[in-house]
Amino acid sequence: MTIPVELLQRLAGAKSVTVLTGAGVSAESGVPTFRDALTGLWAKFSPEELATPDAFRRNPRLVWEWYQWRRKLVAGAEPNPAHLALAELATLFPRFHLITQNVDGLHQRAGSWNVIELHGNITRTKCSDEGTIVSAWKDTGNVPPKCPACGALLRPDVVWFGEPMPAPEMRQAMTASTHCDFFFSIGTSTVVYPAAALPSEALRSGATVVEINPQPTPFTPQAHFALAGVAGVVLPELVKALKACRRA
Ligand code: NAD
Repeated sequence: MTIPVELLQRLAGAKSVTVLTGAGVSAESGVPTFRDALTGLWAKFSPEELATPDAFRRNPRLVWEWYQWRRKLVAGAEPNPAHLALAELATLFPRFHLITQNVDGLHQRAGSWNVIELHGNITRTKCSDEGTIVSAWKDTGNVPPKCPACGALLRPDVVWFGEPMPAPEMRQAMTASTHCDFFFSIGTSTVVYPAAALPSEALRSGATVVEINPQPTPFTPQAHFALAGVAGVVLPELVKALKACRRA
């Protein structure tokens, strides 16, 4: 794909860049989006039956087992060229913020730092009652295991549908989106709010906004540039073209 020259010229002059990523960025690492993940054993469930507080109340064992399956999948996955390109992009600007809706930790494993995780991290576990992070527990055969401090059930430290985003991360994400001169929305369907509002906030604040997604989204008509391709191909090309543009 050829990256538009005007995009490169604007990006080359940017001082502050903010990126929002969604499940699409990890698709090429073999981490399925929720919709794609519901295959095989999980085909008979919808995300609402597995990733909500109600689902956990109704059937904690089922929800815990689904997340154990996802944890294994994430542990076996590797960062792809999109994650690596974003880690490199961060080194090219004085100010760079990476906001992700992903819970897989692949950005950090690719070398990105200070990642703003809006939906938590699947590798962490917390007490379902007190919310404290729990890193070790006794295996008593109970599924899910119980909090060693209070006996409540343990759960993954992720934000489920219907739960609020962590306020500090949401504040950081909003500030990063409204104080940048260039904003990327990558591999996200921009339908899950409030994260989906961030590209529009960046636009309203005067940033140049670029979307990278093989499929159109509700945000596509508003983006200054929409690059229709997979992140693992478009992002390395963009970083290469940006470096060439700066050398020229
Ligand atoms: P989503 O709403 O972020 O949609 C995925 C988007 O990625 C779609 O628009 C799709 O067209 C696009 N896409 C697919 N392959 C792509 C590629 N190779 N390059 C660029 N774009 C690509 O994701 P969702 O599955 O609807 O999940 C909603 C929420 O669930 C997420 O925001 C996240 O919190 C959580 N989730 C996280 C992970 C993860 O950590 N990897 C996986 C699944 C779900």
